[in-house]
This record gives sequence, structure tokens and C-alpha cells, in this order.
Amino acid sequence: MTTIKLHNTRTRKKEVFAPLDPENVRMYVCGPTVYDRAHLGNARPVVVFDVLYRLLRHVYGPDHVTYARNFTDVDDKINARAAESGRSIGEITAETTQWFLDDMAALGALEPDHMPRATQYIPQMVAMIEGLIAKGHAYQAEGHVLFAVDSWREHYGKLSGRSVDDMIAGARVEVAPYKRNPMDFVLWKPSSDDLPGWASPWGRGRPGWHIECSAMAHDLLGESFDIHGGGNDLMFPHHENEIAQSCCAHPEGQFARYWLHNEMLQVEGKKMSKSLGNFFTVRDLLDQGIPGEVIRFVFLSTHYRKPMDWTAEKAREAEETLRRWRRLVPDAFDNDWMGSPSESVVESVANDLNTAQAISELHRLHTGVLNAYNRIIAHGADYDGPDPNVLESEFLSSARFLGLLEPDMGGWINTAADLADFAAKLSDLRVEAKQSKDFSEVDRFKSALITAGVEVRMSKEGVELVPGPNFDPAKLEALK
Ligand SMILES: [Zn+2]
Repeated sequence: MTTIKLHNTRTRKKEVFAPLDPENVRMYVCGPTVYDRAHLGNARPVVVFDVLYRLLRHVYGPDHVTYARNFTDVDDKINARAAESGRSIGEITAETTQWFLDDMAALGALEPDHMPRATQYIPQMVAMIEGLIAKGHAYQAEGHVLFAVDSWREHYGKLSGRSVDDMIAGARVEVAPYKRNPMDFVLWKPSSDDLPGWASPWGRGRPGWHIECSAMAHDLLGESFDIHGGGNDLMFPHHENEIAQSCCAHPEGQFARYWLHNEMLQVEGKKMSKSLGNFFTVRDLLDQGIPGEVIRFVFLSTHYRKPMDWTAEKAREAEETLRRWRRLVPDAFDNDWMGSPSESVVESVANDLNTAQAISELHRLHTGVLNAYNRIIAHGADYDGPDPNVLESEFLSSARFLGLLEPDMGGWINTAADLADFAAKLSDLRVEAKQSKDFSEVDRFKSALITAGVEVRMSKEGVELVPGPNFDPAKLEALK
């Protein structure tokens, strides 16, 4: 069996991964708060933990892995969005949840086994908070319930490596007169009539953010489970607070044993921010015609524990590579086909998700296939090297193990080929029309392309078709 090694934030070491139960390997990853489109940085943990999910399924079997990722659908940002837009909270969260699923599917991310929504787990959160109060780890004050950090002081901060005193000195903590310790955090807060709220022993209110992950992870994965993941911006306070809540509510369990954190994303060497004008969503890139597969490839070329720098140049190179690779993909391999990935690619990913190394291995495998074909051409019947079909199958299986070269992700290549065909056809029609002086067919064809969101550039040199921001490839079907 492949040995998986993972860098555990808890111990700050790369460790051999040994699941509690190889029959059911369990992973929890913090998901999005649903009030807007996912920006590119939000997509990084999705792709990183998708790779880990694929690795675990490969090693332990697809039926022996349980992956849960939540949707935070109760949050003050959502309430604010509803108030400013005049739309209902339910409408906003339903719409943005679907956006998230669509955008992540475009990046080739498999759906987790469980995608719990916070609002479906309010009774479990209330029960957990009641348990924490009963054990002396939480207290009620002015309609709020707070976690008492002093009740767990020697453990609090272990994950991120800070002491409570350092945190008080350095962190921007919300000072409230009813807190016993400024680091105490909210488990439950009161809701006014215009805000979402649920009945509780402490009056009508809503949960704090951190408690939802503790309650959902416990309900779906148990008191102890294997892996907890998320971006390193969540390490403090969110993950510290999850640990405090879960370990105090269920002292018989360990909560998560391996903690993985991905580094943040930058754009052209700078932090992505609205003020720098380099802030964009996954959908923005897809609408610009950058295929999801290209975005995925760029993400995979940087190790998850290094800052990922998104650049237009990297996207261009990734597209070039994928075009080259896809040229090799034979039609014989359909949707259901899956052979064995190369050991070298699996080993790279098993080595703390070294996807950059795995991509180098893919390049090597690709070159191997081309070399075999070239040698067959050169040597003919005297060729005694490896069967290129076997090499090709290994290359393709390895790419698919990383979520690349999937048949349903290749539409962008076909679209480019279609557009080239249509450009040639439009050129021909124009030549005919100039002779017959009847331009009706040219006009019909041109307006069908424009309806599909294609920009039509006609000049003396020829015809160029460029997919615009509202490009809809499905509308091209009518032209075939
Ligand atoms: Zn969480």
C-alpha cells in the first residue's frame, strides 16, 4: 500500500498518515460563507483538498473515504447582503451555494460526500453548547453564550503556536464588557426580530461561526476523525476555537488528528484585494474564456504550503501544455475509462501533496509516449521498445488521477476547434457572396455567431472569431 505522508500543523512535522479506521477514512474541510461568488483564493483549498480526497480514495478505495465540507449559510455578512439588496436570505444563500458548486465543478473538483448547511444543524449546535455550559467551559452573559478560554487555557493556542497572553496582546479581539476574558468567543448570540433566529434555552438567537464546524464534524464524522483542512487564514481563531469547543464537549475524543493548511493566493506577486483592483472571482476568469482545467493546472503547479502566485503568463503556459497533452488523448478513452496511474505520480502526491512534482512526472510520461511513437516511425518493424498504447494509458490515467484531461473538461478545446471551423466557413461564404452579390447567408451566419456571444472580426486578411464574455458554446450547435 502507498505510504501517505502529510505535514501536520499540530505537530509541525511531516508524518506518516495512519487513519483511525482504514475502512472509513474521514476528512472535514471548512467551506464557504454563501453570500457572493467565490474569489480565486477561495478555490485554492477546494482544489488542494480535492487532490487529497482523490489520493485517499485511490489508496483506501472510493467507498472507504468520507469527506465533509460545510456551507455557512447563517452569518452577519449574509444578513447585511440581504438588507442592502432587499432580497431574502434564503434566496441569496440558495443562489450563491449553487454558484459555488458550479464554479468548483468547472475546476474539476469532486463533490464531497457530505455538504452540510449550518442552518440544518442548529439543534446539534444547541446541544453542544448546553454540554459546554454543563461542563463549565461556557457561560451565559447578556443573552450571549461564550466559551471560557480560561477553562482550557493550557491547550488553547497550541495549533497556531501562541499563548493566550500573546493572543490578547496581538489580536484584534472584540472587547465586550460581558466577557470574562477578552479571548472568550461567542457560541450563541441574540437575534433581533429582523434577523434570523432560532429558539434556544438562552432565548431567540443564532450560533457563532465556529460552533457550526464542531457540531457538523461531530455529527457526520464522530468524536475523533482523521483530517481537518482549510486555508491557513482559518488557523486562528477559527480552528483554535473549533478544537477548544470539540475537545471540551467530547473529552473522550481527539477531534481531528491531522491538520492541513494551505497557503494563500496572490495575483501577479501582490496580495489580491479590492483596493488594488486585482480582485476577481473564479467566474470572472471562466467568463474571460480561461478554462477551469487551466485554472486547476496552475493551482497544481505550486505546492499547497507555498504561496500561490496567479499570473496571466502561468495561465497561458498551462493552456499550451494542456492543448499539447490533449492532442494525445485518444477518442477510445471514454468517460468511464480509468486505468492505473503511474506509481511515480501517486508517490509524488502521497508525499505531502507534491502536485508540482506530479506535474513534472506527467511531462516525463508524455515525453515517453511521444518518444515511443517517434522510434516506431524511425525503426518500423525493428522497434522493440515499450508499447506506446500502454504508455499512453498510463499517462492519461495519471493525469485523471490529478483531475486533469477528464473528457467532460475538454469542451474548451472542442470549442476552439469549432470556432476555427466556423471562421473558415464564414470566409468561404464571404467569397461566394462577393461573386453572387447575395450576402444573406453571410449575414445569417454572422448573426448566429453574435447571438452565441462570439465577437466576429472580418477584415481583408480574413475572419477571426473571439469568444466574448457572454459566450455560450451550446448556441453554436445550431450552426453545425
Ligand atoms: Zn470550520
